[in-house]
Amino acid sequence: MELELENWYDAFKSKDSKFDGRFFVGVLSTGIYCRPVCKARLPKQENTTFYQSAAAAERDGFRPCLLCRPELAPHDYLYERGSLANKAARIFDEQCSDGLNISEIANLLQCSDRHLRRLFIKEYGVTPLQYLQTRHLLLAKNLLTDTKLSILEVALASGFRSLRSFNEAFKKHYHLAPLAFRKKTKNDIETTSQITLFLDYRPPYRWDDVLAYFKKKALVDVELIKDNAYWRTVGFYKDNHEYVSGWLCVKQATKRNALTLTIDEKLLDILPLLLMRTRLVFDIDSQPDFIFAKLNSLNTIEANTFKLGTRLPGSYDAFETLVKELFKKYYSVKRVAQLLKIIVENYGVRLLENITGLNYTFPLPEKIVSLSLNELIEQGFVEEEAQLLISIATKFLSQNFDFDYAINPLEEIEKIAQVFDLTLAEAQQISLHLMCWPDIFIASQLNNNKFNLLAIENDLEKLKKEWHPFSSYAMISLINKDLNKER
Ligand SMILES: [Zn+2]
Repeated sequence: MELELENWYDAFKSKDSKFDGRFFVGVLSTGIYCRPVCKARLPKQENTTFYQSAAAAERDGFRPCLLCRPELAPHDYLYERGSLANKAARIFDEQCSDGLNISEIANLLQCSDRHLRRLFIKEYGVTPLQYLQTRHLLLAKNLLTDTKLSILEVALASGFRSLRSFNEAFKKHYHLAPLAFRKKTKNDIETTSQITLFLDYRPPYRWDDVLAYFKKKALVDVELIKDNAYWRTVGFYKDNHEYVSGWLCVKQATKRNALTLTIDEKLLDILPLLLMRTRLVFDIDSQPDFIFAKLNSLNTIEANTFKLGTRLPGSYDAFETLVKELFKKYYSVKRVAQLLKIIVENYGVRLLENITGLNYTFPLPEKIVSLSLNELIEQGFVEEEAQLLISIATKFLSQNFDFDYAINPLEEIEKIAQVFDLTLAEAQQISLHLMCWPDIFIASQLNNNKFNLLAIENDLEKLKKEWHPFSSYAMISLINKDLNKER
């Protein structure tokens, strides 16, 4: 959905949340830049200048508004998925340190530095380095406002190598030292250990549907639905290859169009990664009204089928999702539950300080490939099951999959089918959540659905074209319809 430059002031004036995160407004009279939803007094048109990214506003010397907080805005890149600049931006967003080399990323994306730089400037209005710096500064601003972490902890968690480089960059861009800035934000957080951050979305958000989806799939000891929130354990390798594990919790914020992410202190080193994963898993950056307009034909077929604010839930751990889904293909629900329990209890990492019901991380594929068939058989697997598990882990590690933000998602889905011996429809079904891929609709996977699929059978190809690139939302809304009936 292109938004023409000449309409930006009108869009800003409307304060409509559908424009949130899609552009930023620099206010010349104050030197501050805002989100389109800012509640501050509307500046005159001649005092405004518009930017396609926060980084571009910061490049021109604007400081982020303390009221609307540009660092919390939903992102705008879902629909440009597949572009090289977009993929690079996502890699930057997940980076947990500033030791990142642009050449390495260009290499990874199989293009030259110059090419990447050119594409990046075209899409974001800034160089990759400027983009990265703004990300670090905005995360630091976020942590200074919403946590009581020490200044050093803020510096390191937001990607600065030292307190000195953090202080310098922060002062240079925001005209205040970090500590002075914190005082200005009226930070009233009570506990020093609490790390809870907001992820603003474009309303509405059908939280109950998302939670019901996770509840149905929850893996014992690893995931938990409690107090209207989603809890889970996570384990990741840090940049220096040290393994970190802990818990996180996602819930609906009160009095704000946002979800909150709360993390275990032990996960602070991988905060940018967890923030980005949570954006993806909870489909924070979705544009509800745009998707609703595309999918509304479902409601003509059967009233109230597609609901505004429907989200496409994803997966935090690709290996875990693959194991679950592939086991489901071969074994009964009961047997899959038994096998997953054995895997988690024996090979997952036990959480040191556990929350009732959250005990282990799902094991890494590296752990599984180190096991012998006999070892698994002794724990209760039969040989065929043990072989399947080890082969999933081996293929997962050797095949260089690109589940997140794949540049050629359709090729990636075909690869999943081929490597794991699945039909294309089965691979698509898995990719819907595994890759958070928004454009998959497989009628055969909805056979037991209560929606009258026969009514659309003949028009399906036409409908899919109409729904493109959001047909996954049609699929999830039919799945939700069933879940709602069960509730
Ligand atoms: Zn503002």
